[in-house]
Amino acid sequence: AAGGDHVDLLVIGAGPGGYTAAFRAADLGRKVTLVDARQTLGGVCLNVGCIPSKALLHVAKLVDDAAEGAAHGVSFGAPQIDIDAVRGWKESVVGKLTGGLARLAKRRKVTTMQGMARFTGPHEVEVATPDGPRRLTFDQAIVAVGSSPIWLPFLPDDPRIFDSTGALDLKAVPQRLLVLGGGIIGLEMAQVYHALGSRITIAERMGQLIPGADADIVKPLTSRLKARYEAIHLETGVAAVAAGEALTASFENASGTWQTKFDAILVAVGRRPNGAELGAETAGVAVTGQGFIPVDAQMRTNQKHIFAIGDVVGQPMLAHKATHEAKVAAEVACGHKAAFEPRCIPSVAYTDPEIAWTGLTETQAKAEGRKVKTTPFPWAASGRALSMGRGEGLTKLVLDPDSGRVLGAAIVGVNAGELIASACHAIEMGSDAADLALTIHPHPTLSETLGFAAEVFEGTLTDL
Ligand code: FAD
Repeated sequence: AAGGDHVDLLVIGAGPGGYTAAFRAADLGRKVTLVDARQTLGGVCLNVGCIPSKALLHVAKLVDDAAEGAAHGVSFGAPQIDIDAVRGWKESVVGKLTGGLARLAKRRKVTTMQGMARFTGPHEVEVATPDGPRRLTFDQAIVAVGSSPIWLPFLPDDPRIFDSTGALDLKAVPQRLLVLGGGIIGLEMAQVYHALGSRITIAERMGQLIPGADADIVKPLTSRLKARYEAIHLETGVAAVAAGEALTASFENASGTWQTKFDAILVAVGRRPNGAELGAETAGVAVTGQGFIPVDAQMRTNQKHIFAIGDVVGQPMLAHKATHEAKVAAEVACGHKAAFEPRCIPSVAYTDPEIAWTGLTETQAKAEGRKVKTTPFPWAASGRALSMGRGEGLTKLVLDPDSGRVLGAAIVGVNAGELIASACHAIEMGSDAADLALTIHPHPTLSETLGFAAEVFEGTLTDL
């Protein structure tokens, strides 16, 4: 390969992990080169993940809210959907953010390079750039190569079968859409396509939607979706798909097997780390059989000069985990003392209602045989929730039964994703129920439900 340039700190992958690490290290005085196979910065999250999905979920919310207006005395006509304009809206949001990142990189004098990088030695990579291969040597490297959608081997090669990236492309609105996988990504995309006019069927292998979340916060979401979607099949697998004029999916569960025709299939059965396609072994970096790169609390791999962060180091595969790990890696690489040891990492499904949880879940506590006290506060008793016609929500704290210390929280309802942040703060601060109960929350807000759940523990809840 031509051009054997030397790099001080090399960052591979420009997602939330990679760009955050690159910017932090540059701010600490390092000369950073940031390499990504994509044309734009931002990784999965900005280009084909968190951000475009939220832009489309906003459109879905407009449609759904308008449809529900009649129940509140305001009716609108049927929505006129201009799919090209919807796609344009999504692209404008993504463009603003990826363009902003390019400017932030430039301002910090971070060198960016497009191309797929592979280790060719402990201090060397080859980058397949659009202009041919380039060899780079480096002092230190941070690996932030993220993850990719899992594909099912039995699926035929057919443009009507796509993963989340294909779903976000919004090429067409199928009449009947099968979503394989009832996790966060599958349910968010199902919500978008449902609002745009698709009839939705969901197939999930586990016994509940969003299997990682506590059952009682998933229930209100499941009942709302059941009323809107054609079918939600739990404990059900799809064993085969035949592509003809329609796509025929063969379902199987304990009660038998059956076939149904669809116009499109979204595969959202999980993501796998990209650690195996990096030539990491050439650099002496350990990679697990699944493709994860093990790291210590300083985000160091088994090679002291090579760090790894984000989806490629393990679960949960979430952008905010990646950015926090990134700062630790950059700081340690720059000789600072830092460690990644959060007390909790929140998870959010931006469905309607939203699902959010953080810290210890009740299911986890049970599995570990750990005694906890949970204090569910139903939103049917929240004035604000009722005034929005959304009393199906629930706020639940998971507390130490003796000290009242907040160990976890789970919320379902409108804006649960925003509300969970204050529970994260409580857990990080080592707060107990009394701290939350004595904090004056504004009335009438959904945030009050956190204070009320704490008052349930304190035994001081008197009125609503
Ligand atoms: P990534 O963002 O995956 O970026 C890795 C980058 O590395 C990619 O750009 C890739 O092209 C590049 N790369 C890979 N290998 C190489 C190589 N060898 N050489 C050069 N470049 C390489 N998370 C949330 O927290 N909130 C959400 O709402 C959310 N919504 C999501 C919605 C969808 C549809 C999807 C798919 C994901 C969503 N996620 C969400 C997950 C989130 O996108 C990831 O957790 C996050 O992007 C991980 O960041 P990362 O830095 O580890 O890697």
